[in-house]
Amino acid sequence: SRGNLRVESLDRIRVCVRKRPLSKKELKRGETDITAVTGRRTITIFEPKVKVDLTKYVETHEFIFDEAFDSDANNDEVYRRTAYPLVEYVFQGGKATCFAYGQTGSGKTYTMLNETDGLYVMAGRDIFNLLRRAEYSHLSAWVSFYEIYQGQLYDLLNARKKLFAREDGKQQVCIKGIREYEVSHVERLMEIFEHGNSTRSTGVTGANSDSSRSHAIFQIVLKHRDNKARMQGKLSFIDLAGSERGADRGETDQKTRMEGSEINKSLLALKECIRALDQDSRHTPFRQSKLTQVLKDSFIGNSKTCMIATISPNMTNSEHSLNTLRYADRVK
Ligand code: ADP
Ligand code: MG
Repeated sequence: SRGNLRVESLDRIRVCVRKRPLSKKELKRGETDITAVTGRRTITIFEPKVKVDLTKYVETHEFIFDEAFDSDANNDEVYRRTAYPLVEYVFQGGKATCFAYGQTGSGKTYTMLNETDGLYVMAGRDIFNLLRRAEYSHLSAWVSFYEIYQGQLYDLLNARKKLFAREDGKQQVCIKGIREYEVSHVERLMEIFEHGNSTRSTGVTGANSDSSRSHAIFQIVLKHRDNKARMQGKLSFIDLAGSERGADRGETDQKTRMEGSEINKSLLALKECIRALDQDSRHTPFRQSKLTQVLKDSFIGNSKTCMIATISPNMTNSEHSLNTLRYADRVK
């Protein structure tokens, strides 16, 4: 198994892929696994095809990323190679973002915001341990949790209150009136998360944003105790809307179509903004979606990004998996 990745060896953009195991249901249906992690960094999809003369053949699609996690990798291993170095980085004053991108059901939430051992829990644990050191006694951690649904922000820690983002003079994004909690223990972090998560799918306002249609953003900000306006670093965990929602699926229902195009816009803008991380930010299209607008300060200055593309292994989902891998490939 692989050791901890250290911040010194971290690129500005890291793109990894994670394959989940076949589910019990898929096994019961007799589905086959056509996805293989064929190297530390390589994933291959073996797509069965049929020619016009009915002869069968297999089309092979190979992709290379910074890292490929097989279906037996646990969240701890994924954490040590993705978010762990980002924790070090935010203590050094950086802004770090960890995305899960993929089709609904491919493992985004399991990876990022799983209640017991999602990456956010493990990062929180490490952050609180570091905060107990004398050298960081001047810092404290603040947590917020919100959702972007159809281009609108909702505070998951405050009864889905609508929120509005603006930029201060120093290009820092502020979300006016967002609820933040100061947290120093992982148990409390999980409690706050669960409370917010419970308001996610069916909000008290009756807004129906199921988790596949919205982006969830869980942030841990390090602030100076003597001056809360002074931020040391920021770590964001983002469980993106289902990537299949983005594509033009020929949906007839107007509402579904609007949601689709909004998600499409944000995922395309996200790709462009991540790709531009190494370049002059004046030409980066932050304004093209709410998602990239609120994450703007995580794409400029001292910032690092990790994207985890999640993949379903079965044949039925091969088209979605290929789309996810192609998207992730373009990000790098
Ligand atoms: P998404 O958030 O992308 O829609 P989920 O995270 O909800 O997908 O995962 C779908 C299902 O697959 C869940 O039941 C989840 O527990 C399971 N699952 C996802 N990834 C893994 C994994 N790496 N190992 C085991 N089970 C997984
Ligand atoms: Mg999910």
